[in-house]
Amino acid sequence: MTPGVFEYHRPKAVDEVLALLGQLGDDAKVLAGGHSLVPMMKLRLAEPAHLIDINAIDALRGIRQDGAAIIIGAATTQAEVIASDLLVAKCSILPEAAAQIADPQVRNCATVGGNCANGDPGNDDPAIMMALDASYVLRSQGGERQVAARDFYEGVYATVLADNELLTEIRIPTPAAGVGMSYQKIKRKVGDYAIAAAAVTLAMADGRCADAAIALTNVGDTALFSSAAADAIKGTSVDAAAIDAAAQAAMAAAAPAEDLRGTVAYRTAMAGQMTRRAIVQALSRATGS
Ligand SMILES: Cc1cc2nc3c(=O)[nH]c(=O)nc-3n(C[C@H](O)[C@H](O)[C@H](O)COP(=O)(O)OP(=O)(O)OC[C@H]3O[C@@H](n4cnc5c(N)ncnc54)[C@H](O)[C@@H]3O)c2cc1C
Repeated sequence: MTPGVFEYHRPKAVDEVLALLGQLGDDAKVLAGGHSLVPMMKLRLAEPAHLIDINAIDALRGIRQDGAAIIIGAATTQAEVIASDLLVAKCSILPEAAAQIADPQVRNCATVGGNCANGDPGNDDPAIMMALDASYVLRSQGGERQVAARDFYEGVYATVLADNELLTEIRIPTPAAGVGMSYQKIKRKVGDYAIAAAAVTLAMADGRCADAAIALTNVGDTALFSSAAADAIKGTSVDAAAIDAAAQAAMAAAAPAEDLRGTVAYRTAMAGQMTRRAIVQALSRATGS
């Protein structure tokens, strides 16, 4: 259970990271919190010849308001997300979900960028970023591009991130005042990945759902954005029938594998149940009831 041999790099600036990635390509891996990558290296499921540690780069850390967007630096830790007054006030779904990721020791190192870039369907941030319609800023020596979270994931540990690209920050359109949001996660025990989880954002106007977004964690090869589940509540008063229709749509979108966390039938049912709970809490927050 020891990793293979690798060369360790600790650049002090983003440009140095980009130069190393440009030069080393798929021989290199970015090291952020290390709480997904290092276990994979110990199991020899990843054997990068070079590790590029980004933890000495202050420009990749921090949470700030930038015009109409909230920006989270890729190397910002989950502990920093929990402690962010800006996120607690304007985007509470992120600190609430971060508090359900692993344990305090892991959260002190684990980063938002690592969670989003990793491509593990068990990671919690991707579904939340989909529900928030966040974009990922990807930089290489050739320039910068922004990819919507909803378009980033291709399969288990497969994303559109190229070998020479670094995720530098996550851009979240600041949710309007009155948007309700909720992340509901069922897990076997504290610190475990989700059996299933659902992220919901919704806005009400004149007693009707004016907008909604719903995404699921760990019930498919990637986080799943379900337009059908959101469509089931849009335009409705979000009554019991609409919530039931959304839960049914979420279950139809779910395609979990059977594993130690449960059977396909159980995990599919939990995708529906988490969707229900998240809609009910988001609605209560949107209406202040
Ligand atoms: C006991 C335990 C329980 C856990 N439970 C949960 C849980 O319930 N929910 C959950 O979501 N996670 C959980 N995790 C995983 C944890 O959140 C990881 O930290 C996270 O998956 C990866 O973040 P990291 O900063 O550690 O990234 P790393 O492990 O350093 O990197 C992960 C991958 O992302 C790449 N990468 C990292 N940063 C960047 C970047 N800026 N640009 C490009 N590529 C990058 C790396 O090259 C690597 O391929 C758990 C981990 C442990 C050890």
